[in-house]
Amino acid sequence: MKRLYHIFLIFNMPHPRISMKPNAIIIGAGPAGISAAIYLVRAGFPVTVVYRDMGALGKTDKIENFYGFPEPVSGPDLFNRGIEQAKRLGVTFIQDEVVGLVWEDKMTAVTQSGSYPGDVIVLATGAARIAPKIDGLKELEGRGVSYCAICDAFFYRGKDVGVIGAGDYAKHEAITLAATSRNVTIFTMGKAAEFTDLPSNVHVETRPLIRLNGTESLESVELDDHAILPIAGIFVAVGIAGSADFARKIGAQTDGVRIVTDDNNATTLPGLYACGDCTGGMLQVAKAVYEGARAATHAVKYLRTL
Ligand SMILES: Cc1cc2nc3c(=O)[nH]c(=O)nc-3n(C[C@H](O)[C@H](O)[C@H](O)COP(=O)(O)OP(=O)(O)OC[C@H]3O[C@@H](n4cnc5c(N)ncnc54)[C@H](O)[C@@H]3O)c2cc1C
Repeated sequence: MKRLYHIFLIFNMPHPRISMKPNAIIIGAGPAGISAAIYLVRAGFPVTVVYRDMGALGKTDKIENFYGFPEPVSGPDLFNRGIEQAKRLGVTFIQDEVVGLVWEDKMTAVTQSGSYPGDVIVLATGAARIAPKIDGLKELEGRGVSYCAICDAFFYRGKDVGVIGAGDYAKHEAITLAATSRNVTIFTMGKAAEFTDLPSNVHVETRPLIRLNGTESLESVELDDHAILPIAGIFVAVGIAGSADFARKIGAQTDGVRIVTDDNNATTLPGLYACGDCTGGMLQVAKAVYEGARAATHAVKYLRTL
């Protein structure tokens, strides 16, 4: 009888696909990401924020032009208040660095240790990174210099390529390239980086790059001791990946380091939103909070259609 009852329960369990609520993943826990998280969670959707650190607020001593603070508030204090507020409302936080955005079953944010699929993904990683100052880098952009391994690896099949960077993001780009290129050199620009579990065709070079050479396209790189290494492609992955890198990788339109969004902060890909400093314009907390709210309001409408 007990057994029959268990069989009855199994057959009457709700189908996981039908019962699961669509969810949102937010990359970044600054004013834009937290504002988006608050609007989404209060609309009844499960929200996970994946963030690395305090972003711009971590570098801000005092803010005295944001609504509601009679006395100046420190950046870290404002950051922590945002996290507390969102946690109280039920937002989940994961502290980890996102290194890629891919299509699996759904759009998925990938870190070195996990992956976070979302029916909606909100990019809120703050202002874009600054490209390293190396002679020839700007001039050879699009002709051997790339910012996206998954987008451009195809053009360098069987060739020797390099990655500039010393962190998880550089490692991720190198591993992507290793699958199709002959050799991949990670140029750490003088930083002592300890990479583990690299494919056998990935090497690490700590001598700084000083120049990229080539006329029609990249032909070689020059190191600070004037050694020349022939190389067909160089991929910039300095520091951590930002929103524009993710948008580009998954096929959303970007304009330089800025993500192209419409009046709802929607990108050119359905379900992908961007807000805050990463969309350019005024780099201020008030604008980041506004855009986070606007992105989430539209994302809620989108999630309700799923
Ligand atoms: C020195 C300084 C002073 C400032 N003073 C003022 C001021 O007085 N008034 C004012 O209004 N504004 C000020 N600003 C600007 C303000 O801090 C920003 O406009 C605002 O923080 C932008 O919010 P955001 O959410 O877009 O980005 P950020 O606050 O930069 O947050 C970005 C978030 O994304 C995360 N992130 C980034 N990349 C990844 C990744 N790959 N994986 C996971 N997480 C990632 C970061 O860790 C962070 O949590 C100042 C900025 C600076 C630097």
